[in-house]
Amino acid sequence: MIYRQNLHTHNVYCDGRGTLREFTLAAIDQGLEALGFSCHSYQYFSPVYTISEENTVKYKAEIKALKEEFEGKIRLYAGLEVDMLSRPDVSGLDYTIGSSHWMKLGDDFVEFDKRIEIFQEILDKYFDGDIWAFLEKYYSEISLLSTHGRFDVVGHFDLVTRHCESEHPFFDRSDKRYLDLAKDAIHNIVKDIRIFEVNVGCFAYGTGNIPYPEPELIREIKAAGGSVIITNDAHDREKLSLGLDRGVEIIKSAGFDEVMIMTDHGFDGMKI
Ligand SMILES: [Zn+2]
Ligand SMILES: [Zn+2]
Repeated sequence: MIYRQNLHTHNVYCDGRGTLREFTLAAIDQGLEALGFSCHSYQYFSPVYTISEENTVKYKAEIKALKEEFEGKIRLYAGLEVDMLSRPDVSGLDYTIGSSHWMKLGDDFVEFDKRIEIFQEILDKYFDGDIWAFLEKYYSEISLLSTHGRFDVVGHFDLVTRHCESEHPFFDRSDKRYLDLAKDAIHNIVKDIRIFEVNVGCFAYGTGNIPYPEPELIREIKAAGGSVIITNDAHDREKLSLGLDRGVEIIKSAGFDEVMIMTDHGFDGMKI
């Protein structure tokens, strides 16, 4: 294994399956050198699948204790995956991943990261069925990610391609109009947040063959002066290392000769 860490993982404090200790033991078992916990942060507008404010305190304390207990065996890091609209307390963390799963549409907070039937309903109800209106809204909002809080890493940047490998793809991801929207957003974001995750959860979970972001956009991140980490958004401890090395091959093909890793003094580059 070349890339021996995973910084995007979910556990029982949010919607993952397994305790922090179980994830730690599984990570050691699978040969990881470092593991980052990145619970879905507390969201004032919806408690569904996220950690509570009270549990966020316990979560940080538990990670601190585990760091000491497992010192020399694995490096552990405290993170949160923060939805850009949620503005939680991020004090005392080693890093944050900034993601967009929700939009504020009129008075409603709407989660668009849903299965195809529900996504279609959202599109019809709020966008008159116009996928381009949705895509423009998504990329104009994510372009402003850095104005919503402190984020170290951009999470699953092109999540809107979630259904692109299905029988009902909504749009053609190779359409220049689409790519221009996404590429403009990369150039806006990278001025403030340099690191994007390459999320290979599709390989770990068998949900597709194209990571977030897709290779053309990974090349654009490189061209824009950004850098990448590789994660797989693990919700199961058995899958912590799946797909990571495939991610290394993908970023190499996209022009990267370096990948970022978390160290005890922050993010650092590693040659690949
Ligand atoms: Zn996410
Ligand atoms: Zn996640």
